Amino acid sequence: MKRAQLAVYRTVGEARLLASALEAAGVAVELRGESLAPLAGEIPMSEAWVELWVWPHELDTARQVLDAMRENEAAAQRVVACPKCREENPGNFEVCWSCGLELPSGLRVQLRAV
Ligand SMILES: [Zn+2]
Repeated sequence: MKRAQLAVYRTVGEARLLASALEAAGVAVELRGESLAPLAGEIPMSEAWVELWVWPHELDTARQVLDAMRENEAAAQRVVACPKCREENPGNFEVCWSCGLELPSGLRVQLRAV
């Protein structure tokens, strides 16, 4: 059985972060090209990229994990104001860090659509 390429990353750090998230989700992931990364700058950029490979039957699960991570990352970069105390919370928080109010999911969904 051949593995399928899931994604390509420009940095080892980024690829490892994803790989550990995938492993936590039970997806067996293989990093390829990692050994070339330290040479970035000396060889063409495209060859310094790190590839993530997974088994074909785990591809769907892996993509879901990637999507969830990207969504979470994007949400974390946004800010939502708590409806109760007006403190600002990262967009991926479910509960206000200041007053503990559960942040309305509508607020989060709206922000995700941006
Ligand atoms: Zn609050």
